[in-house]
Amino acid sequence: MIKEKWLAGIDIGGTTIKLAFLTESGELKTKWEIPTDANQGGLKVVKDIGETIREKLLDLNKEADILQAIGVGAPGFLEMETGFVYEAINLGWKDFALKDELEHELGVPTAIDNDANLAALGERWLGAGDGAKDVLFITLGTGVGGGVIANEKILHGANGMAGELGHITVIPENGKQCNCGKTGCLETVSSATGIVQLAMEMIPDYPSSTLAPLMNENKITARDVLVFAGEGDEGAKAVVAKSMFYLGFVVANLANTLNPSRIVIGGGVSKGGQTLLDPLIETYTKFVLKRVGEAADIKIAELGNDAGVVGAAWIALAAKRQA
Ligand SMILES: [Zn+2]
Repeated sequence: MIKEKWLAGIDIGGTTIKLAFLTESGELKTKWEIPTDANQGGLKVVKDIGETIREKLLDLNKEADILQAIGVGAPGFLEMETGFVYEAINLGWKDFALKDELEHELGVPTAIDNDANLAALGERWLGAGDGAKDVLFITLGTGVGGGVIANEKILHGANGMAGELGHITVIPENGKQCNCGKTGCLETVSSATGIVQLAMEMIPDYPSSTLAPLMNENKITARDVLVFAGEGDEGAKAVVAKSMFYLGFVVANLANTLNPSRIVIGGGVSKGGQTLLDPLIETYTKFVLKRVGEAADIKIAELGNDAGVVGAAWIALAAKRQA
């Protein structure tokens, strides 16, 4: 009997750590979560990961040596080659050798990358990316993140910042303050938070909108805006159209630069589905070069919250091959 070989994909977030075991051919065996105990520093998180993985293997009646490699997603400023975390504000980490510590803890090759890049790789491997060689991935959540896969490789750039497309300037003057310190970034208009801010500005012009009473109580969510837009509410539709105008403008310009064959929109906001895609594609089509547009499909992500752990397992496979 051929011995099974598993990979672990791990996604370290500010409140939870998501984990999964996958086979080398991409079959998801099991997934689970543990809370992130970040305030005791990085070493505690590494110990917790080691412990939960050993326990889970025991529960599943598997020998420890089934585990071939692990891949980890972490938020913050990272050096991918050395697996060094310069700073992860959400976790309170500074100058932490995450890869070395995990290799020491679990004794298998380990690779790290940032969470948005891993979501891109995950969607490419088992989701809406369909294994395409050139994929542009955009995640719309509380913020806007992204990942660029060029010729099957994730683009990191000179110091790991490639793909930070949430901070492309779309409003050069009088834009809103962004978390990054600049103003007028894509994130200020196309994230969940950005959509709510746009609604607060625009809904006063649509007094009969279903969003108007919610706005007076300060209770609008991005989900409300998308649901009501889907039901035909004119005010909500105008908000989504404006938010997606900026996104479509950015996606078209990025597509003109990268010539991808697949563009994938993920993150919580992407649950808006066609309500989001219709206005996005309208603007995109206006600004994309005809031949570039012919090569690329725009699709909603398929893996949801699993994209990160799936992408992490993918880089684990690469780490194993290099070891
Ligand atoms: Zn920004």
